[in-house]
Amino acid sequence: MPRGANLPAIAAFNETVVLDAVRRSTDGLSRVELAAGTGLSAQTVTNVTRRLLRQGLIREAGKQSEGSPGKPRTILRLDPAGAYAVGVHLDPTVIACVLLDLEGGIVAHVHRPSPPDGDAVTTLAATLDAIHEVLATPGVDAERVIGVGVAAPGPIDADTGVVVRPPLIPGWNDFHLRDELAAATGLPALVAKDVTCAAVAERWHDPAGASRDYAFVYYGTGVGVGFVLGGEVYTGSTDNAGDVGHVLVDPGGALCTCGRRGCYGESVRPYRLVMQGLWSGVVTAPEGVVVPDGEDVHLDVETVDALFTRLTAAADAGDERARAIVDRSIRNSAFYISNLSALLDLDRVVYGGPSWARVERRYLDLLPRRMAEIDMEILTHPVRIESSAVGEDVAAVGAAALVLDGTFSPRVGLR
Ligand SMILES: [Zn+2]
Repeated sequence: MPRGANLPAIAAFNETVVLDAVRRSTDGLSRVELAAGTGLSAQTVTNVTRRLLRQGLIREAGKQSEGSPGKPRTILRLDPAGAYAVGVHLDPTVIACVLLDLEGGIVAHVHRPSPPDGDAVTTLAATLDAIHEVLATPGVDAERVIGVGVAAPGPIDADTGVVVRPPLIPGWNDFHLRDELAAATGLPALVAKDVTCAAVAERWHDPAGASRDYAFVYYGTGVGVGFVLGGEVYTGSTDNAGDVGHVLVDPGGALCTCGRRGCYGESVRPYRLVMQGLWSGVVTAPEGVVVPDGEDVHLDVETVDALFTRLTAAADAGDERARAIVDRSIRNSAFYISNLSALLDLDRVVYGGPSWARVERRYLDLLPRRMAEIDMEILTHPVRIESSAVGEDVAAVGAAALVLDGTFSPRVGLR
């Protein structure tokens, strides 16, 4: 755990150190354990915990007597109702909104369909509606809501909170998301890339840090990767790490927006699989939409989502043509995930995101086998493929966790 300092001028710093230590412990900590773990003096720990108790951020949770001589020690834990944060995930298909308590528990969550045309003003209105609904959760003290975190498709400008030209949502070009939300809610707001948020959520779910190095593959309208390296979420030099779309995995495969064929992002995204399903007749186009063989047609996000659900269900049910389409995308993923795991020496890759549940069964079954077939050349160790422990709201949860991180992080506390 981070070490504290015994100087009165940095009391706020020590509060974050103590809070973070309490959060990372699974069963709470006594004041003696806190002093030993943080390097703070017993007197400083007593003062800091008194302030945190008064602020309602921690609570006394019973006595610890077993195995320790002397009088029983009081165990300190976070008070979940001590602070709340709102997390929003803006995806081209769905707006997910959660309210997290101080322990990271999901107190409320709502979903709203994203406006089909991706219009920024309509999206903002739907987002505010979702935020107001979670804030109205009974029993939640509005005074204790400390901010709004937004997970958005990249690229983003984290300093200004602006979404910069997201490739799949043209309506959000240079959308001043953070300032609009802060003005409308009266709460501090931050914007982060969706894949980064997903990695943060997964990291929060495992606060003791059992897993120090892994990739989070975010499977939604597009695909991106978030990284936890050395126990820390890696965001890159401009907070835009994780764009993996144009790595070549399938020479001669589908034509990508970049003008080349067989890019990873293009070959696995739901839209691409849906087009292949339409061409082969596994799924049928909605009325009035003509799909010439081998030609891409425009489909709105809801139609892609509905057809993707049908295609993947057909694959799960044993339809050979549907399986061939899904399995080819898994084979393409195997090339990329093997190389990524070798590059960063990862032994674990976590999958999640809004479209993940539809392909989860076949991925978990097939991807390790496809990777094993090519691993002999690339990898020296097996890589575990897992589903997110956080669930479908993973990016929204991570966005709220980033807000709460400000309460726990000594670096943020110093500002
Ligand atoms: Zn490309």
